[in-house]
Amino acid sequence: MAFSAANCFAESIFSIMNHEIKSNSSRSWMQTVADTQLPITVIHGQYPGPVLTLTAGIHGDEFPAIFALQKLRQAIHPDRLHGTLVIVHLANLEGFHGRRVALSPVDEKNLNRIFPGHVDGTLTEQVAYFMTHQIISKTDYLIDIHSGSWNETLLPHVYSPVMNKHALDKKTLAFAKSLGVPHIVLYDERPHDPEHSISYPNTAQTRGKPALTLEVGQLGQSEEQDIEQIYQASMRAMRYLAMYDLGQQDNPDAISSHVALYRKLVDVQSPFTGIFRPYTQVGEQVKQGQAIGQVSDYFGNVMTTLYAPVTGTVLMQKQTPPIRKGESTTDIAISH
Ligand SMILES: [Zn+2]
Repeated sequence: MAFSAANCFAESIFSIMNHEIKSNSSRSWMQTVADTQLPITVIHGQYPGPVLTLTAGIHGDEFPAIFALQKLRQAIHPDRLHGTLVIVHLANLEGFHGRRVALSPVDEKNLNRIFPGHVDGTLTEQVAYFMTHQIISKTDYLIDIHSGSWNETLLPHVYSPVMNKHALDKKTLAFAKSLGVPHIVLYDERPHDPEHSISYPNTAQTRGKPALTLEVGQLGQSEEQDIEQIYQASMRAMRYLAMYDLGQQDNPDAISSHVALYRKLVDVQSPFTGIFRPYTQVGEQVKQGQAIGQVSDYFGNVMTTLYAPVTGTVLMQKQTPPIRKGESTTDIAISH
């Protein structure tokens, strides 16, 4: 396995964000970026290997990954680590403390839609710029970890980006399968130009680095089983990359045999502003034309029934009543 020049073990020092971390050591700090901070941990292993970055809290209302990465920080010992683990514990501190769905209250921007960022832009754009140049540039593999917001249920899944570059796509899908999460969406709807990337993983992908989005947890909760699933997925990724617990590698065949691959997501938008009630649940198979929910007015009159435009699996769904015209109510995944 070949690793990038960013991972220079000749000097046994990993340089990132103006910190120099010696091999077989770890460090946690609050990294100042413009008018905010990023809580960072770097664990630089005793042995050579890849750089893996795990990130929580790009959306400040998605909590399980924050706890899973705290647990990982405690569990990974540098003297058993091959390569380097970079943990961004909470990428959107302002959104987290502002209790905001997806956005930062400082500039009303969604951090995961404004990459690669701007050096002299708004606060969120500056954070994106920093992450592009100080984190993605130093990493070989990346997992950006999300959950359903307070109003959303979802089936745990992984987005494996498709860039129509054979070697990168193959490497990315194998990495996605290694997480042991049974639903994988092949996602080809992002730009290929590194100067016009959109999301955090897309920015890594346009720079040739396998980068996944992991979605586990829902309704703004911090359930122990979701934290555990993210923790286990992170450990599996590290074992797959031969970074940790080399003797206990999962049998890749055993994992991949349970994976459902999807080629596309179709969202069902509400044509009215009002009150949404779903008829389905995440994980349910729906047939094209099946009624999947209704939108009523504030007096209880049904304004429309929503029907599945395709046959597939309900992957994500709004689970609370408020809905605006044009908002997605349900995301249906079509099998590969
Ligand atoms: Zn999110």
